[in-house]
Amino acid sequence: ARQFTRPLNDLANQFNTFLSAVAGAERVFEVLEEEEEAGDEQRAVELKTVKGEIEFSGVFFSYEQDVQTLSGIDLRVSPGQTLALVGPTGAGKSTVVQLLSRFYEPSGGQIRVDGQDICRIKRHSLRQHMGFVLQDTFLFQDTIRENIRYGKLEASDEEVEQAARLANAHAFIMKLPKQYDTVLSQDGGGISQGQKQLLSIARAILADPSILILDEATSSIDTITEIKIQEALYRLMKGRTNIVIAHRLNTIRRADQIIVLEDGKIIERGTHESLLRQRGFYHGLYDSKSSRSKKGQLG
Ligand code: ATP
Repeated sequence: ARQFTRPLNDLANQFNTFLSAVAGAERVFEVLEEEEEAGDEQRAVELKTVKGEIEFSGVFFSYEQDVQTLSGIDLRVSPGQTLALVGPTGAGKSTVVQLLSRFYEPSGGQIRVDGQDICRIKRHSLRQHMGFVLQDTFLFQDTIRENIRYGKLEASDEEVEQAARLANAHAFIMKLPKQYDTVLSQDGGGISQGQKQLLSIARAILADPSILILDEATSSIDTITEIKIQEALYRLMKGRTNIVIAHRLNTIRRADQIIVLEDGKIIERGTHESLLRQRGFYHGLYDSKSSRSKKGQLG
């Protein structure tokens, strides 16, 4: 069982590193390249274009022997649609996303992108079509310009700036003494949490992926920045298939489909309205958070 147990922090870090790389920063990914060479990966195919249809059929997964993390997950997201994943902590929301990006392989069932089983798609190719905006933005010790450019290494300075404008990041960048040449420390010291998120949105806009994975921030951010983030996010999400680990009521309401996970199982699914009508778990979640929902928070 030892091979299954790894310190959570370690994995969280790896996941973070991996996720930042998928935004186009292949140069930090030697580790994953080694992985690519292993086994079936050689025979896997590259995807030139992706429409963004996602399907899970009967997906099972365990991090540790005898502990079922996901049990029989079935879901389907059409190209251009938004799926919100909600549920209590530890329900398996992040795991769904990690499997979709082939950070782990399911122990049973199949995950398909555009009808193709993802275990037959090369990891780097799959990830090329995915963008990630996460709670903890991964920043490199480099200039703001280069940090955004990680979304698309061959992008021109004009493209970087255009992406920053669309992400509502341009204005704050221009107020910094060195503007786009401002060097960020690895933890992004000097800019706020919300500004870091705007940079990660800019990076994702530049990457222009068909599939977007969003792990919504739970930390409180001042209202004005929050509005900028929301606006930039909707701009980013438009026309893509979005999988959102959602905490904000606004985002959840707007989703085409909501899936409620608990203990690795889908316990409810539907739209905001239909789930409220069911008066089940979602309704309870909504109700119990109603004080927080005034701030737009859920879950
Ligand atoms: P949260 O809302 O807290 O982020 P989540 O719904 O995203 O939770 P997951 O992170 O997918 O839940 O975790 C599902 C289960 O798997 C939890 O019980 C968690 O402790 C466990 N788990 C997650 N990552 C690992 C890991 N790397 N090794 C072992 N167990 C893990």
